[in-house]
Formats: sequence, structure tokens, C-alpha cells
Amino acid sequence: MKINRFIFVTGGVVSSLGKGLVASSIGALLQAYGFKIHIRKLDPYLNIDAGTMNPAQHGEVFVTNDGAETDLDLGYYERFTGIQTTKHDNITTGKVYDQLLKKERRGDYLGKTVQVIPHVTDLIKSFIINSRENLDFLICEVGGTVGDIESQPFLEAIRQISYHLGKQRVILIHLTLVPYLTAAQDLKTKPTQHSVRELNFAGIQPDIILCRSEQKISQHQKEKIANLCNVPLSNVIPAPDVNYIYELPVLYNQYGLDTQILEHFGLNLPKPYLTAWTDLVQNTIGEEITISIVGKYTEFPDTYKSLVEALHHGAICNNVMVKINWINSREQFAEAQLQGSNAILVPGGFGDHGIEGKISTINYARINNIPFLGICLGMQLAVIEFAHDVIKLDDVHSEEFYICQNPIIKLADNQSVDLGGTMRLGEYPCNLKAGSKIAEIYNMTTILERHRHRYIINKNYQDILEQGGMLCSGISEDGTCIEVIELKDHPWFIGVQFHPEFKSRPFTPHPIFASFVKAAIQLNNIIRV
Ligand code: GLN
Repeated sequence: MKINRFIFVTGGVVSSLGKGLVASSIGALLQAYGFKIHIRKLDPYLNIDAGTMNPAQHGEVFVTNDGAETDLDLGYYERFTGIQTTKHDNITTGKVYDQLLKKERRGDYLGKTVQVIPHVTDLIKSFIINSRENLDFLICEVGGTVGDIESQPFLEAIRQISYHLGKQRVILIHLTLVPYLTAAQDLKTKPTQHSVRELNFAGIQPDIILCRSEQKISQHQKEKIANLCNVPLSNVIPAPDVNYIYELPVLYNQYGLDTQILEHFGLNLPKPYLTAWTDLVQNTIGEEITISIVGKYTEFPDTYKSLVEALHHGAICNNVMVKINWINSREQFAEAQLQGSNAILVPGGFGDHGIEGKISTINYARINNIPFLGICLGMQLAVIEFAHDVIKLDDVHSEEFYICQNPIIKLADNQSVDLGGTMRLGEYPCNLKAGSKIAEIYNMTTILERHRHRYIINKNYQDILEQGGMLCSGISEDGTCIEVIELKDHPWFIGVQFHPEFKSRPFTPHPIFASFVKAAIQLNNIIRV
């Protein structure tokens, strides 16, 4: 299959500038012209995938349909373009070397000295270039910051692709920081000059420079960057901070990013219709509802990226705005923190830190009839809380935390002792019980959702749970895993073993989040605009 053109996005000066959002916005804009696009991510770190990394350091682990544990930027790609990513869309240095060393042991390089150039770079190139479909554009984001040692083989691979295919098929976009110095009351272009020089050392000359800054960049500063970084003035484009990420496609269109990209490739097309994006931004108005999220890493909101986005999507379709009340479950549980919550959410997580706070929160939501959504660990803890407090089972818990008399949450079968890539991962079908609340929410009885867990509800307790009033309303197609629970005597209390947040998109909010936000509005009598 053929990829017609390549767009590489690199980042300079500092990390976290939002390269993922740039790549996603470019993708959305090119789609608006009717082009077929795809986005991939190159991550220079040495882990094989993001699955074993601490979310406090690296943010959320995004799970694809085919069960890859990837970088959170793939979540943006999906949300902005609607295109599903796969395990072929994210590589790391670790994955490249894993492949390389397996090939070496098989004898694929027999007789040769295996080297970074050409063997590592060839593997990176084949990852970038291979496609299962014909594409007008492949957008490829390079993680990390230009100048990092780990980035070098990736930049070299890009240089080679660019050299072989030529400017008519490749464009290089560099996102950089233009910091504002309060003392000097001035924006500084020097870090940008240095980071472009770093790229030049790698044999790469950017075609477009996107300048991230907190202040408006003047014409003079743009001219300086253009002149000293060797790019046309029209290709020095601001990348300002925005309140709302979905403003970006329209904003970049206004700044001419799409026009400059198309011009580079000799494409002259009429401006695209971006009404859907404009409407989306305009629809983020209305009464504010407060949803409390009780988690272990609440001081690092990147950990819950897809979740927060999914709540916003649910809010947009209900014409309200969501304010998140972050509650750190590792701190002493205090009921006062939950007061004023229109709904409560306990997300996924691993390990026993903070589980008591989460269980107390679930108890509060259940007793006070507050809409509650438990995701993965959040669902497992809801089952434990119910078994303990309503069914009055003694010594009941999850095998993940304690050896106990009633392990109502147990290790799923076939779990390995290795921790990387061994969970129940990716999409699995699930049957919903006709007449249940969850079936009503989805308006269907067979669903496909993404998973990332090792533990499951112990089916030996299903009858006791159901007799007590907790309906097990979703069961995996193979019958091994209880996927959804709900309470019969509660206005909206649902737990899901899967992660619905990974499938929610701004234009097609996930039904669970749409219904959850609706319940929060209805039960709290909030007036919608
Ligand atoms: N730690 C739990 C498990 O492995 C829950 C995982 C999660 O919340 N993603 O099953």
C-alpha cells in the first residue's frame, strides 16, 4: 500500500508542548479537505511500551482495540480524527531493539555487524512507511525533545526518508517554545534558534516552525525566527495556549497552517468547511455540574486524560459544562470533600494505595443516591463495598490486595508472572442483559469495549450479589467475566470492567458518559440552557 506524503512533527526546547495536539489538529484539518490520513507516534524511550510506566510520570496508558498499551497521544489522534489506532501506530526504542535482537538471534543479519545505522534506522523507517491502506498523508509525531540522545536514530530515519522521497513528498514541522521573560518583558527566540540548530546537526531543516508561547508573537519576532532559522516568514506560525483543545483545528486554520502545508506540496484547494468544529466549541456552554473523581494520581490529571475528555463529551451533548472536583484517595477520606458533587466517579487503578478512601466514597454515593460510575478498579471496589456493607460478607476483598476468606475479586485465568503486556487487553465482546439499565443506555445488547486488567469478579459470588440487589448485567461473550454491575435500588449506579473512556469522541460521546452526565443533571435538578 502506498503513502503519498509524510508530515513529521518534532518538538524542541522543552517537552509537553503539545505535539500530539498539533499532529491531531493537522489530521483533522486534512480530513476536512477530504484527504485520507493516519497518525503514528515514535517514542524514543527504552520501555517496550507505555504499559509498565508510572502514570504520574508518563500520563495515561491509552489502550487500542487490538490491545496495545500506548502513549496517551494516540487518544488525541482517535478523538480528533475518529480513526482507530492499532499496535502498529506506536513504537519505542525498546520495541525496535526487541525486534532487532530477535532478528539477530534468528540469523537475519548473519555475517554482518549490526549497527544503529543502517539496522536500527531501517526498522524505524519500515515502521513509518508500512501501511495497510493507501493514504494521502501519514502524520508522524516524534516524541521527546530534539537534542535528546534517544531521539537521534529517529531523526536520522526521518532525514533518510526525507532525502529519498524529497520535499514534494515530505514536510517537517517543528514545534518550539518561545518563552516570555517577565523581567525583560520580552519573548525570547534564542531557544528556538538553538533547537532548530540541533535539528540542522541531524541533517534536518524544518519547513514550518510552530511557536508555542503564552504571549502574542510580534511580526518582528516572527521575522527574526524566519531569518535565523531559515524558513519563509509565512511558515512561522503561532501556537498559542487555548482554553479548550477542540479550538485548535479552527485556530490553526485561521493561522494558515493547513494552507502552508498544502502549498508546500503544491496543492491549491478551496478552504474546508469547519462548521462541525466551530459548533463543537460554541456548544461548550451551559450550567456547570460538578463531578468528583476519586483517584490515586489526581495531582497529575494527565493520568486520567481520556476520562476527563469523555466527561466533557458527555457534557457537550447534554448542554452543560463539567467541573471536576479531584479528590486524592491516598489522603484521609473526608465526606465534606464530596458534598456538592452532582456525580461521583472512581476510575481504574492498580495497587492497594488509597483503596479505603475509594471504598468509603462508593459507600457515600450508594447511600446518598448520587450517580456513581466505577471503572475497572472502581467497579471491583464497588462490588467489595456492596458485599461487605449490604450482603455482610466477612473478610471480603480482592486477591490483588489481600489473601482473604472471600476473594470476591480474583485473578483472571491465564495470567502470567511477567508484568509487561500480559493483562486482559483490548477489545472483547460483551452481552448485556435485556431490560437492564446498561442495555437501555447502549440501546443494544452486544457491545465491544476495551480492557486493561488482571483481576475479575469471582463468578462464584454472582448469585449472592444478585440476591442482594446488585445485577450482573453484562457478561463477556465467552462467559468468563462479569463486565457490568448495576444496583436495582439506586437511580444511577453502574460499574464496568472495561474502559468506555477510550472510545468516547467529541462528535460521538460514549453512551455511558452521556447517560452519567444526564443522570447528574436530572437528579440534581440542574436547568439546562
Ligand atoms: N488493578 C485491577 C486489575 O488489574 C484494575 C485494573 C484497572 O483499573 N485498569 O484488574
